[in-house]
Amino acid sequence: MSQGNRTAIGFDEGVAPEASWFNDLTRKRSAGPVSPHNRVLPRNTSPDTLAVHAGTYEDPTTGSVGTPIFQSSTFLLDDTSYTAFSDGTLRDVPIYTRYGNPSQWSAQEKVASLEGAESGLVTASGMSAIANTVYALTNAGSHVISAYDVYGGTYNLLREDLPSAGRTVSFVDPMDISAIEAAVRPETQLLLFESLTNPMLKAPNIRALVRIAKEANALLAIDNTFLTPINMKPLDLGVDIVIHSATKYLGGHSDLTAGAVVGRRKYLDRIWAQTLRFGGTLDPFCCFLLERGMKTLSLRVKKQNENATAIAQALAGHPHVRNIFHPVAGGSQYTSLDTTDYGGFGGMVSFEVDGGDDAAEKFMRRLRIPYVATSLGGVESLVSMPSNTSHSSLTEKQLSSVGINPGLVRYSAGIEDSQDLIDDLFNALEGREKQ
Ligand SMILES: *Cc1c(COP(=O)(O)O)cnc(C)c1O
Repeated sequence: MSQGNRTAIGFDEGVAPEASWFNDLTRKRSAGPVSPHNRVLPRNTSPDTLAVHAGTYEDPTTGSVGTPIFQSSTFLLDDTSYTAFSDGTLRDVPIYTRYGNPSQWSAQEKVASLEGAESGLVTASGMSAIANTVYALTNAGSHVISAYDVYGGTYNLLREDLPSAGRTVSFVDPMDISAIEAAVRPETQLLLFESLTNPMLKAPNIRALVRIAKEANALLAIDNTFLTPINMKPLDLGVDIVIHSATKYLGGHSDLTAGAVVGRRKYLDRIWAQTLRFGGTLDPFCCFLLERGMKTLSLRVKKQNENATAIAQALAGHPHVRNIFHPVAGGSQYTSLDTTDYGGFGGMVSFEVDGGDDAAEKFMRRLRIPYVATSLGGVESLVSMPSNTSHSSLTEKQLSSVGINPGLVRYSAGIEDSQDLIDDLFNALEGREKQ
């Protein structure tokens, strides 16, 4: 490239062509990456078993039952590594931790197997997974469709960063199928939605989204953070890419920040290559925490499903509670929900406390069991108000258009005893103080 008679700094000749396989989506690929020591189980194994065993690194030296922590930024170079450089198979060989590390492979094989995917990638946060996916799967000049009430970080990325990178974004109501159809343009490359939304727990029709994406010849990415593969496997429904904030249910103990993305290997190779450039690789110790946490995913999520449903049912009709948002005990917005694709609805329940935000804040302070904290999906129940946390940047008008009315509280049910949680909620609603 030259500007006037000045040549821009850079290599413009005599350089080997950029590793073209990065972008070659027709290249034949195997699943993985996995090492010969990672336990790979058939994808039709029960999630209860996959959660425990898939991906485990069976250490040939020590026989360690759990995956060791490969706390190393780099690995000895040998003939295999040099071949990987020349063949473009760097993703499958331990060379440098930003490229890949056996601790990452264990965690990502577990997520991939639970979601029924060929390949997976773990990242330093959910936002890293989302950003790398969106950039990797779209080009400048393309168009993206998403929901106006997606996770705030996702919304900010799509709204603040994508336009300057030459991508246009349309924001729609994820429940309004005809609006989504109408938003499609010839240059639409990606649809990005959540399988269950925050905090209104909208449950979009995933099969309709799959149909729209196929007709538009676009890819469909689903953020499955709120449901987890225990409750829904979007890839089985025809979705192309599944993303997680592994900080939430996958990790499950409120002690780590991580992301994950899974799907066909040809897409994951591209997302991996994007992650090499942007950074955001997951640290080996965090991989250990994540893989260890996921061993109990199935147990935890089933209990959290039960707890949230029990809470939603108990709160229904309570004189100090207005609307409840939960697919089992919620209102009319769920009557047309086809529940066949769900194993459960997760541990979240949102509800409006009578008396508005002040009353809701007092109510939260009277709760004895859950912590008042943002985030979700841990073994401990958490409670917060979207209006002064995740959605605090919205105006009153925007809040009400998203459906966040005064007094809305979001409750992330942990794995505690459901009756303890319900008694605690009733005490707090009825004004009884902490003892
Ligand atoms: C928390 C969250 C994210 C962002 O994940 P981080 O791990 O905090 O980066 C993305 N999507 C959803 C649905 C979330 O709840």
